Amino acid sequence: MSIESRFLPLLQNREEQHLYRRRPLATSPQQAAMQINGWEVINFSSNDYLGLANHPQIKQALITALQSDAISYGAGAAHLVTGHHLHHHLLEDELADWLGVERTLLFSTGYMANLAVQQALMQAGDTILADKLNHASLIDGAQLSQAEFKRYPHLDMKALERRLQNSLKNASQTLIVSDGVFSMDGDIAPLNELQQLARQYDAWLMIDDAHGIGCLGDQGRGCFEYFGCELDSNTILIGTLGKAFGCSGAFVAGSEILIETLIQFARPYVYTTAMPQLNALAIRESLKLIKTDQASRETLQRNIKQFKQSAIKIGLNLMPSDTAIQPILLHDSAKALQWSEQLKQQGFWVTAIRPPTVPTNQARLRITLSASHTEKQISALLNALQTLLNTSE
Ligand code: PMP
Repeated sequence: MSIESRFLPLLQNREEQHLYRRRPLATSPQQAAMQINGWEVINFSSNDYLGLANHPQIKQALITALQSDAISYGAGAAHLVTGHHLHHHLLEDELADWLGVERTLLFSTGYMANLAVQQALMQAGDTILADKLNHASLIDGAQLSQAEFKRYPHLDMKALERRLQNSLKNASQTLIVSDGVFSMDGDIAPLNELQQLARQYDAWLMIDDAHGIGCLGDQGRGCFEYFGCELDSNTILIGTLGKAFGCSGAFVAGSEILIETLIQFARPYVYTTAMPQLNALAIRESLKLIKTDQASRETLQRNIKQFKQSAIKIGLNLMPSDTAIQPILLHDSAKALQWSEQLKQQGFWVTAIRPPTVPTNQARLRITLSASHTEKQISALLNALQTLLNTSE
């Protein structure tokens, strides 16, 4: 069978169901006002929550480093070969120090970090209990391990407890896995309850705080700081560096033994080239900004509040989120695409999120706010949304 005969019908089917995905081309730097697919738009779809992706201080640090001749661009090898350079090492220490944990370990992407932790820690006879709306990379990570994989309904702590009771009898070890901030809904996992349940049932807890790190908590340390929870020795935190940090990559944070176990046994860590050293340097600069620039976090919170208050007044179908991710539930994929297209015509880039990324009949517009948006830009988006709402009913 040819590739074409197998896959062309699948592609056509996706198109017919309004589920075909296309990659928009950004032809200007990442910032609030930018050019995408040749359109001048205000971008309400990026994860650059603090506006650091194009920050002059980070750019200057990169220019200075390159001119100094003391740094190469590429890492040249995997961490365990000769790819573990000074800036990787310093960044890991600085992240650990900032978070108050024994160690952190860098990965080139959050996707890989999520694969690595579950593959390295979970074995046959173990059980992984995952929130139903966890990010795809967490689901894929569970598949890569030999453990049994069970899901609990979104944020349902009672259902999780029932599964924990069952696992206590049947599994050698249980790992609870959850997003910190859910990527398509914007709501926050009840970390205090998750941690309490994990302790009660002798389970380990893994939290992917891709969308919380840098944003939540007074110091930006993410959902643990937000809930006032400590990272104990059976808790594993994943933070990504391509969202609030404005760069790319991820880290796993936790105990000395956890990190050494990953270095020894995590295949997505061992068998891959280290991230470019320059990226580690950029992230170090970004971390300095996150530590000192309280104002950006406050601006982000102000922007979220402005959007939410007006959106509720207008009558938009918001989901229960207090974070930078503010989805408008439209249910129908064709309608989500249509709204997204009409917003584009008016100069706003807002992505339509459709199945399979979200459950069937749960298509939505996913609006993400950033500290780099102005009050005026947010008001303009709300006006456009109000017009859409009025004309679609
Ligand atoms: N976890 C969550 C919750 C995410 O939203 C994402 C990316 N959208 C990832 C992990 C993957 O991170 P990365 O983009 O660094 O691979």
